[in-house]
Amino acid sequence: MNQQLTGPALALGNLMSDISEDVYAAGWIQNNEWILWRALLDWRKDGRAYWAPGTQHAHDITEYMPELDRLQRESGGWVWWLDGMTFVPETRWLALVQRRRDQAAAVPDNAELHRALPPLQFVPKCSTGEPLCCDKPMVHNSFTGQWECADAYFELLDSGVLSESIPDRSDTAAMDDHQRERFEHWLTNRIDDGCA
Ligand SMILES: [Zn+2]
Repeated sequence: MNQQLTGPALALGNLMSDISEDVYAAGWIQNNEWILWRALLDWRKDGRAYWAPGTQHAHDITEYMPELDRLQRESGGWVWWLDGMTFVPETRWLALVQRRRDQAAAVPDNAELHRALPPLQFVPKCSTGEPLCCDKPMVHNSFTGQWECADAYFELLDSGVLSESIPDRSDTAAMDDHQRERFEHWLTNRIDDGCA
């Protein structure tokens, strides 16, 4: 699992470690990646970020957020602890966040999550090539074994509809008409990959 981080991913991991060091004098406090992800989303929304908000351990970490935000975008993903600092592409990270939330009653550790959710593959799995949707090659989700509309998926990511997690259908009231149409399109335009 462990991998040699390079470039923006390495800088991102080092910054996340520095924040942990600053707040807890530990190179990678348990749940660092999950706490900092929550903090980054809070900062993007409100311009403030706290470690463990609402608890006696709350610690203002707003000052780190501009750099954390920049490196997260530049790296195109996130860093978590899996036998060491390990880079995760953003699409997979969002799926892991969702999966972990779904199991909130008994939060799995990172190794369990990693086993439970095989890495998404955004390369054609079958030699027959990718199917198209909205005139673009679809992305393959190896977890569901389905092709999904890449056009809708990446637009939903860019517009923030999928920035935190995959909303359920009851959340569609918060979307504008266009986003709702794209979300429904993304949910419903799926093709089983058909390769065993
Ligand atoms: Zn489409």
